[in-house]
Amino acid sequence: MFTGTRGNDGKNPKKVNFSYAILNPGASFGGLYSPEILPKFHKDFFMRMAAKNYKELAMEILKLFEVDIDDGVLREALDLYDKFDDKITPAPLVKIKSDLFVNELYHGPTRAFKDMALQPFGHILSYLAKKQNEKYLILAATSGDTGPATLDTFENKENIKVVCLYPSGGTSDVQRLQMVTARGKNLKVIGIKGNFDDAQSALKSLLASDAFKESLKKQNINLSAANSVNFGRIIFQIIYHVSSYIELLRKNELQSAEKFYITVPSGNFGNALGAYYAKKMGLPVEKILIASNINNILTELLTTGVYDISKKELLQSASPAMDILISSNVERVLFDKFGGARCKKLMSELSEKKSYALHESELAALREDFDAVYSDDEFALKTIAEFAQNGYVLDPHTATCIKAYKNIKPKNIPCVICSTAEWTKFAPTMWNALRHEICGDKEALENFSKALKVGIPECISSLFTKEIKHPDVVEKAQIQDCIADFLKG
Ligand SMILES: *Cc1c(COP(=O)(O)O)cnc(C)c1O
Repeated sequence: MFTGTRGNDGKNPKKVNFSYAILNPGASFGGLYSPEILPKFHKDFFMRMAAKNYKELAMEILKLFEVDIDDGVLREALDLYDKFDDKITPAPLVKIKSDLFVNELYHGPTRAFKDMALQPFGHILSYLAKKQNEKYLILAATSGDTGPATLDTFENKENIKVVCLYPSGGTSDVQRLQMVTARGKNLKVIGIKGNFDDAQSALKSLLASDAFKESLKKQNINLSAANSVNFGRIIFQIIYHVSSYIELLRKNELQSAEKFYITVPSGNFGNALGAYYAKKMGLPVEKILIASNINNILTELLTTGVYDISKKELLQSASPAMDILISSNVERVLFDKFGGARCKKLMSELSEKKSYALHESELAALREDFDAVYSDDEFALKTIAEFAQNGYVLDPHTATCIKAYKNIKPKNIPCVICSTAEWTKFAPTMWNALRHEICGDKEALENFSKALKVGIPECISSLFTKEIKHPDVVEKAQIQDCIADFLKG
């Protein structure tokens, strides 16, 4: 069962099942639904799983959480991993140094790791909507990866409509084209004149608007969220961490029960939370190493115990999916470690004073599971060039993990880096790293691909000739009308 991270207000149920938490991601006092008790892996779980494939492993983990969804539906959801490059191994583990492995999570239809969770999640959410005979509107603000992955998973799904807001000029060309060429009749993509913060705040004010809520009610439309505040995404982010360990066992890189590090390039902390839950369930993880960019709020929290955004401004970086100040899923770790009352107090301090400070013992408790380090764009670009010359291509997000591998990995045991995007989504940065030349996405894709003899998947190269279905770029004030028109049509 699942329970809210900030206690119960008497209006929401105290404990909910999986499907309720997916359909209604907002819990009491603005909290998030989290597992009440984490299940534990049986001691021969990993050995037993060594003979199973990814989908079978996924099914076993879903069962441990006792999700209240029919097996047949779960199987259909997991069959969406057939859309990945390798059906049997959607997330391959690649060895790049004697103690360094990359868990490549970007082999799905939109070439970012968001597909790992959003593909099966989208299927389950639309199944539930249909079963309950309810219509749902999914609103998403994106800095470039969540948008395409959300649009792809919900394309032409019954009972679901998606509106996706992106900052015009704030994404790579490839990311923009992935969105504005989306074909489903139930999809609407709107460019906003402004940056990601503007897109996100536009979405928030919409969600708070009584007139908007009233008009949805009249049309019998419910609102839900597809970002990682939804536990339905987090559950699929536990699985690939477990699969990386099983692969290390299979390849004899580790003996049973020996520990390893997991390194994650972090933004909203969903990926890291998945690793934390896996560790708590019994995966032998030494520590989870958090990599941040210059928006280093997570590094500050995990090294000083203070989360203070009162004097911070969001900085733009070469790893835009990590440009974030409020990292939503940290809350679930605080809840798991310190309980609902303490979590609620910390979260209200954050919204009122824009900061909170952990006690020393609390920081020590966090550091049992996590350490963190940040790096700047100069480091990322140098690292991309260094690794590319040695035959491995890292995208700008994944490159931040190398700082963690180099600086905060005291033990000589294997380290698994989570690679969150394919280089093709950030070609201008890649080419700049390699040759210090600035050019657009199309040229950068071709140049980089030729120089390093790496392929460009068809889903990316074909973007440049696809029909633009969503040309709208609007001022913030026009968003609501734009959405109203779409919902009527
Ligand atoms: C979303 C994203 C991240 C951040 O992941 P979180 O789970 O939000 O911490 C990192 N890299 C890329 C490429 C992403 O798309």
